Amino acid sequence: MPKYVYDFIEGDRSRADLLGGKGANLAEMTRLGLPVPPGFTVTTDACRAFLATGAPPDGLYEEINAHLRQIEARLDRWLGDPADPLLLAVRSGGRYSMPGMMETILDIGLNDATVAGLAAHSGDERFAWDSYRRLIQMFGRTVHGVPAEEFEHELAAVRATAGPGGPSAEQLRDLVDTYKKIFARHVGHDFPQAPHEQLFLAVRAVFSSWHSERARVYRRQERIPDDLGTAVTVMAMVFGNLGPDSGTGVAFTRDPATGAPGVYGDYLTDAQGEDVVAGIRNTVPLTELERLDPASYHRLRQIMATLERHYRDLCDVEFTIERGRLWMLQTRVGKRTAAAAFVIAAQLAEEGLVTADEALTRVTGAQLAHLMFPAFDTAVAPAPLAVGVGASPGAAVGRVVFDSAAATTADGPVILVRPETNPDDLPGMIAAAGVLTSRGGKTSHAAVVARGMGRTCVCGADALRIDVERGEFTVGDRVVRAGELISIDGTSGRIWLGEVPAQPSPVARYLAGELRPEADPLVAAVHRLLAHADLVRRLGVRANADTPADARRARRLGATGIGLCRTEHMFLGERRALVERLILADRPAEVAAALDALLPLQRADFVELLAAMDGLPVTVRLLDPPLHEFLPPLAELTARVAVARARGEDPGRDATLLAAVRRTHEANPMLGLRGVRLGLLVPGLFAMQVRALAEAAAQRVRSGGDPRPEIMVPLVGDVRELAAVADEARRVLAEVDGAPEIPVGTMIETPRAALTAGEIAAEARFFSLGTNDLTQTTWAFSRDDVEGSFFPAYLARGIFPVSPFESLDVTGVGRLVRLAVAEGRATRPELTVGVCGEHGGDPDSIAFFAAAGLDYVSCSPYRVPVARLAAGRAAVESGTDTSDSR
Ligand code: PEP
Ligand code: MG
Repeated sequence: MPKYVYDFIEGDRSRADLLGGKGANLAEMTRLGLPVPPGFTVTTDACRAFLATGAPPDGLYEEINAHLRQIEARLDRWLGDPADPLLLAVRSGGRYSMPGMMETILDIGLNDATVAGLAAHSGDERFAWDSYRRLIQMFGRTVHGVPAEEFEHELAAVRATAGPGGPSAEQLRDLVDTYKKIFARHVGHDFPQAPHEQLFLAVRAVFSSWHSERARVYRRQERIPDDLGTAVTVMAMVFGNLGPDSGTGVAFTRDPATGAPGVYGDYLTDAQGEDVVAGIRNTVPLTELERLDPASYHRLRQIMATLERHYRDLCDVEFTIERGRLWMLQTRVGKRTAAAAFVIAAQLAEEGLVTADEALTRVTGAQLAHLMFPAFDTAVAPAPLAVGVGASPGAAVGRVVFDSAAATTADGPVILVRPETNPDDLPGMIAAAGVLTSRGGKTSHAAVVARGMGRTCVCGADALRIDVERGEFTVGDRVVRAGELISIDGTSGRIWLGEVPAQPSPVARYLAGELRPEADPLVAAVHRLLAHADLVRRLGVRANADTPADARRARRLGATGIGLCRTEHMFLGERRALVERLILADRPAEVAAALDALLPLQRADFVELLAAMDGLPVTVRLLDPPLHEFLPPLAELTARVAVARARGEDPGRDATLLAAVRRTHEANPMLGLRGVRLGLLVPGLFAMQVRALAEAAAQRVRSGGDPRPEIMVPLVGDVRELAAVADEARRVLAEVDGAPEIPVGTMIETPRAALTAGEIAAEARFFSLGTNDLTQTTWAFSRDDVEGSFFPAYLARGIFPVSPFESLDVTGVGRLVRLAVAEGRATRPELTVGVCGEHGGDPDSIAFFAAAGLDYVSCSPYRVPVARLAAGRAAVESGTDTSDSR
């Protein structure tokens, strides 16, 4: 029979798939001899079996009972013992931490009889009744979906009438009676008194919570698979709410916001752990604990040092102090901001705890992209309206909204303002530019979730009086209503009315060459990790750039060439008229004249581009889009002509243009006369572009430059198309004196090109994968339409976790990519293969391209540093041995 339950002492951290992150790390701490309350974990296997059949697998309850009996024997306390009951905490914990789920039921084992035993044994009747009412509330909500507000409402009423020391034991006992009535009214039966029944129902409820709406939303956002299931940890209760010598806290081994060394965290005296995470009362900084309970504080610091050395990374912990005795309730490799990730990785490498390779795997391209965002220009900012806790860095400006629904439906950026957040606010947090709360510290739900997704967040701004119902908040006598613009700074915690100007991030300034690496610890860390990425990566990184300014920027950011210059972008603005002339020309002489007018303009552009990328390859793509894109839209022209005619005027040129638009109109222009087909059908068009490029290169050579142009033919489907264009190109090139040798290659962006790559390589010196069109044509998805039509539904239903236009579909499109690379190189072993679709800047896709053996990726200039980093990571993760290169 499969084993479904593991005592903490049986597991270890490598078994997170089975025991969940929480269970595996509790096991690890237990093995390290740290003070963990005894307990066991019910596996994700059991959860998956439950989710598949709707019933616990055979023998599960017996196995749980057997493990429970071991714990009872060890502690010499028994679940349900009326004299001195053992109580249990039941928590969810999947493979990946999901603050969006967090099902927890504490105090399992309390009932009308054992509550008296708890009171007697703790010597604190109020505590016993308070624990019982917590159980009914958590159990009611988690197991039966009783709305938390109903309980909260009654609790608030009792608190309002209580004396300064809080509700009396009698009041709490009455409150338990009220809670039981609420429970029975909602559930249809009484609160279960049998402790084992409570435990089993709690385990089932945690399993079921895997499919709750908020858990699904969180997984979709974080790209966590839907079929993993959660484990359940069951642990003997320890109490942080037993008076002033008890308490609970959360701590980090380094600052999770900046990465600075030291111990950071929040502590709450006389409280249970859920109170800290929920941000119910404002916490004190952990350093206060040194004053309150120096022995526990020093023990905690020792334990944290042990954990950091053991895990070789930033760890966070949850702990409880019960009457002066410290207990560890959880640890994990902690979430951190993007800035902290870089700083910590570089520091750990410096301290010798990890190798430079490992340090590189601790940061992501997405984090680097985040760090390139601007921050507020505090020098010119007005006095802030209020200051809260800077919980997740960034500069967010947006209109105030007070609920998730408003955030998800708003036009333009919004700031979600809430007293505190809970998992139901997740869609709003995803949609918002920033999150602002009036309660809770750096470890509140809002802070943890926002940091995880790189959302700017300020929390605990207690000067704000938030009235969600009225849709406003006040600070002093200033009322701020829904729809007003505010700015929030997730680093300093400052909140301003109106829009505060932002300034570039230090990382962006460093990358632009304006700051020295020593300027600050973050810049130094980025410098160090990028340098290592450059050392180990095998993928080149080029840029998609059409203008000299873009080319210069890309080069500064580390691009070693242009992988795609879209020449159609050189025909915009005033030059459109020249293209119109070409389209309207119907006699060869007119065509030639139109092309002659375009040639010097193209040549001048190419000269500048080649100068900006001197010494590096510049891949120039011949004209790609359908010609009608250069003409006014059909509807507009039709209207203009109709109006002119109605007025009895001559529509003149508009009538000619309308005729041309009608002539070139296609039902599916993306599958029509574009790319290589255009070059074959419009005489002289590609020849003009080739000549312009060759003459520009010759001119650069004459001025002492080192131009390295390449000619790229788009949308080829058959080798004969390419051969025809390549022949013409070679003829033109031979006519230009003084030009360097210019290779002709092609894009692989139709399935047929990929499938016949072996033939095409005979005519192509290089391939560049046009994964935008290749995705479009492989899936039969119109790239211009789908993101606004059915993609949201596909994403919501999990048909794909991310748009295939954003991150490469490795299974389908990736298969064509691999085939094209293999068959192309079989024909021409020295074939250079790159990618210039949007995927060239996507870290996940980059890992695939590295594995597929590409030579380079090409992406927009701002993504060049991200691509360098991702390419470095990909090299390390694919097992390149660079371990000495620290
Ligand atoms: C592509 O299709 O991937 C590509 C780079 O070309 P474009 O996006 O210009 O069609
Ligand atoms: Mg394309």
